[in-house]
Amino acid sequence: MTAQLIDGNALSKQLRTEVATRAQALKAKGITPGLAVVLVGDNPASQVYVRNKVKACEDSGLHSVLEKYEATMTEADLLARVEALNNDPAIHGILVQLPLPAHIDAQKVIEAISPAKDVDGFHIASAGALMTGMPGFWPCTPYGCIKMLESIGYDLRGKHAVVIGRSNIVGKPMALMLLQKDATVTVAHSRTQNLKALTQQADVIVAAVGKRNVLTADMVKPGAVVLDVGMNRNDEGKLCGDVDFEGVKEVASHITPVPGGVGPMTITMLLVNTLEAAERASK
Ligand code: NAP
Repeated sequence: MTAQLIDGNALSKQLRTEVATRAQALKAKGITPGLAVVLVGDNPASQVYVRNKVKACEDSGLHSVLEKYEATMTEADLLARVEALNNDPAIHGILVQLPLPAHIDAQKVIEAISPAKDVDGFHIASAGALMTGMPGFWPCTPYGCIKMLESIGYDLRGKHAVVIGRSNIVGKPMALMLLQKDATVTVAHSRTQNLKALTQQADVIVAAVGKRNVLTADMVKPGAVVLDVGMNRNDEGKLCGDVDFEGVKEVASHITPVPGGVGPMTITMLLVNTLEAAERASK
């Protein structure tokens, strides 16, 4: 079997067109959805991420503000900036790019963001809303994975999903979203014994570890759907995921590539959340 690709670029394009249309409708009411991206320090990867986020906003007709600060910025000054953005009516979503310099308590900064503007979905109120099935903002990467499953018309009800990884930003929210969609969910992590025995039973596998070849063909049930969140470098320095793509694509029914899979969906869902925040604020 050769798996069908779930193309994150193509799906992103479609969803971003929808975002642009909804943004136009809000603009007609005098509201331009606005995202503030705050970057502290000069981490090269973070600089690329924030540039991409700001550009994606502009391309979809969203207003965006990039605030860049020196790595020496104090925690108190950053908290004051977050508070100012909380009170800025032109800003509907606030994203503080992680990681922050070591002298700043990242969790404290995240908790300072108004939950109504928490478009990254990392605030404890957003996590609680996801856990209890209340309205809130879902973290962008696992939310993008759910959209990818929806795009192939996959019905999760009663299916066994195995999530590999239990981080607060990917693995745990992913598991909760799958549970909310009525899947039976297993969460694996670094202490899990016999991962292969679990993944071999899975209808859906989400790999979110950050290590190459965590999932190989012999670990996958024929016809399973495989979503690869991982971002790693191979021996040639090229971007690759957690999944042995060449092997697994011969067994799975659907698979996401890296690059061009979950990655672009993460930024797309940030746009969706920002638009949603603006729509909620307009009601
Ligand atoms: P993380 O915080 O480092 O979490 C990694 C998880 O993998 C942990 O729960 C860890 O278990 C588990 N793990 C480690 N080794 C394992 C093994 N051998 N078997 C099973 N589980 C194992 O990473 P993250 O932030 O969730 O990100 C995961 C990957 O996704 C990274 O490559 C990251 O770059 C990528 N990512 C991509 C996007 C995107 O937009 N495409 C967005 C976010 C993250 P313990 O909890 O026991 O340590």
